[in-house]
Amino acid sequence: MPVSRHETWLIGFALVTLTTTQSSPAFAWGNEGHTYINRVAAQKIPSSMPRFLRRAEVEISYLGPEPDRWRSPAEFALKNSQEPDHFIDLERISWLDPVPPGRYEFYRKLYEKRAAAPDRADDYLPEHVGLQPYITIEIYGRLKAAFREYRQHLAAHQSTAAVEQAIIFYAGWLGHYVADGSQPLHTSIQYNGWIGANPNGYTTERGIHARFEATYVAANIRAKDFAPQVKSPTRLTDPFADYMAYLKHSNGLVEQVYVLEKAGGFTAKGSAAALAFTTERLAAGTQMLLDLWCTAWLESAAPVPEHAAPVSATK
Ligand SMILES: [Zn+2]
Repeated sequence: MPVSRHETWLIGFALVTLTTTQSSPAFAWGNEGHTYINRVAAQKIPSSMPRFLRRAEVEISYLGPEPDRWRSPAEFALKNSQEPDHFIDLERISWLDPVPPGRYEFYRKLYEKRAAAPDRADDYLPEHVGLQPYITIEIYGRLKAAFREYRQHLAAHQSTAAVEQAIIFYAGWLGHYVADGSQPLHTSIQYNGWIGANPNGYTTERGIHARFEATYVAANIRAKDFAPQVKSPTRLTDPFADYMAYLKHSNGLVEQVYVLEKAGGFTAKGSAAALAFTTERLAAGTQMLLDLWCTAWLESAAPVPEHAAPVSATK
């Protein structure tokens, strides 16, 4: 997420451009963590799934950090549109239950809330709240649709080479956001230094985010440290609801990050407690990714209802 995000909230729009250009963005799990999560998930693909996907470990690993390559000011429109995809501040939508599964229904709820807010109305702008579960479920949908195409090509004895490439891309791209969701600070307003009442004296310094997810992980953790915690995939019953529950669980661990940081857990070689916490989070992200891949594959076998006739013309 951009470091400027909460500065926007705190000090107003006038300084956004200045702080954006002065701050370096925080990339959840850094290059290493994102690569590891995608790699371990690829290694755990069960033999019941297509063999080409199980052989795509190198490509899927490469794609773990892919959306972090879309943050350069050289591609302004891309950077601008995709940065809210990496986070969601669940505290800002605590009043919204259930969270609607469609992006535009979510926007509408937020704009209604914003219109009624007595102050700090822009806290409810979609780009300030974050859109992390939407990009995730949308890529999940792309993956499922591509798996369905793959099945149809197989049944028709047609080449699957092209659709295999699409599936590998969607699977790897999906991994980025699922991994972001296991990083507690990507689900919270407390994303980079404690704000508000602070009776326990947690750090308010900007820097905990990158120190935890990137510097500490790169220096102390390898894929083999959390791979054994990842189990065989489970079919999800309701991918969006299950994913929201996953994000809420992650949000419940935000304070623990601050407790560990205060005890020096993420400094230099860190502590055993910090290692256990971080490997559990990396494994949780890997598990959810594997479960989503598996669920998309299984659900892609279901027959699709005939398209209903459109009620009105769509653009
Ligand atoms: Zn990210």
